[in-house]
Amino acid sequence: MSLISEVTVHKLGGSCLVDEKSFEKILSIIDNYRNGGVVLVASAMQGVTNQLLKFMQDCNSRAMKPDDVVRELQDKHLKIAHEIIKDSENLSLASSFISDLTAQLKAVLTKIYDLCLINPQLTDQVIAFGERFSTSILYYYLKSKGYPVRFFQADNLIITDNNYTNALPKLDKTKKLIENQIIPVIENMEIPVITGFLARSEEGFVTTLGRGGSDFTATLIAYSIVDFFKRTKVILWKDVDGLLTANPKYVQNAKLIKNISYKEAKELAFFGSKIIHPMCLIPLEEKKIPLEIRNFSKPLNSDYTTFTTERMVKKDIVKALTAKEDVALITVEGAAMVSLPGTAAKLFEILGNNNINIIMISQASSENNITLVVDRADKNRSEEVLKASNFFGRRWIKINAINDVSLIAVVGAGMLNTPGIAARIFKALSEKNINIIAIAQGSSEMNISMVIPRKDISQALQAIHDEFGLSN
Ligand code: ASP
Ligand code: MG
Repeated sequence: MSLISEVTVHKLGGSCLVDEKSFEKILSIIDNYRNGGVVLVASAMQGVTNQLLKFMQDCNSRAMKPDDVVRELQDKHLKIAHEIIKDSENLSLASSFISDLTAQLKAVLTKIYDLCLINPQLTDQVIAFGERFSTSILYYYLKSKGYPVRFFQADNLIITDNNYTNALPKLDKTKKLIENQIIPVIENMEIPVITGFLARSEEGFVTTLGRGGSDFTATLIAYSIVDFFKRTKVILWKDVDGLLTANPKYVQNAKLIKNISYKEAKELAFFGSKIIHPMCLIPLEEKKIPLEIRNFSKPLNSDYTTFTTERMVKKDIVKALTAKEDVALITVEGAAMVSLPGTAAKLFEILGNNNINIIMISQASSENNITLVVDRADKNRSEEVLKASNFFGRRWIKINAINDVSLIAVVGAGMLNTPGIAARIFKALSEKNINIIAIAQGSSEMNISMVIPRKDISQALQAIHDEFGLSN
């Protein structure tokens, strides 16, 4: 049995890796948790992933030259290394690590630029550099401060499918690698310092876990060690206090949610709330691992969000609201569809084959029409491919698309088996004269989603927020 009673996996976002002050704050966080085991997972420094992605996106237009991008990144990382690493030995190790990375990056970018070669596999190879730079600097910094640290690049820890830029982990293989490499380090009271975001496909190429994927890295590490260290917890250090009852852009008195179940949080994460990576809750829920989102600028703050497996049904039947402002509504309508099996399948197939994501679906039992919500950017294409298809291009079927709408959703585990919630939502909206264009409720009954006119989004969210007293 291990002598270590508790392990915390800390994910440090870009906003934690800014200047000497923020790195010093990382020291105090480590010290706070060091009576147990500590694992650190780091994101890229702010703006770096975007910059690398932009190089890929603009490659055809020749807007960014590889040399300029590489020089800028090298300067940025060397500058912070010089600012925070005070002893010459570690500074020189960090500098030569950064120079090696720079040379590798330069070779890749030059090849891409010269051949105009852009594909998701190369994109991952490129954007993974952000975390390699930042995490190596964090590692040498901690070493220079005398902390017992070990550096890991996660392509040796996390194995995924080959869905580049949005890869999904192979859990069993990943768990084995992490068990073998990370557990002994923690046992030895050392601190693993791990690159977030990046991983490796079974074929051996670099992959990434999707934007914000370092959250997912942290929860995968926790998932893989919790059978050994029973009391493992994850803390995601962010630049916000935690999850809010609504986006403050729409609802002024939105309030911090102190406690939320994984089931509810997943409804929020998958749908518009950009605060956490949507997949990162799944490994935690499965192993019942607690999670906290805390504000890095107030590490000792008592206000933060805790995630648990229990369903917290108290008076808060409705927990939070979420919204997707820029969506379009596609309606496929016609008596020819009634009782015709395969209609929905065909619809999904056509959109799926064209890489169009369906956000919400609703069909009334008359079967006379099916309503779909897609991203606003996909509106015209959805309309075109459906009209061009044999199945839906027929005379008796009408396809209609509008794009001045938004999607809002009301989320709460307490909604399950509680009658009258929908009635209260609809009443709150009708009192403000807001028209509901389409509705969907999944059978989990934890989410009621509605399409409303875009101009009403703020007022609608505020009205529902008030009706359920979410700011109290
Ligand atoms: N650097 C990656 C991104 O910006 C991953 C992360 O920050 O978690 O999406
Ligand atoms: Mg980031």
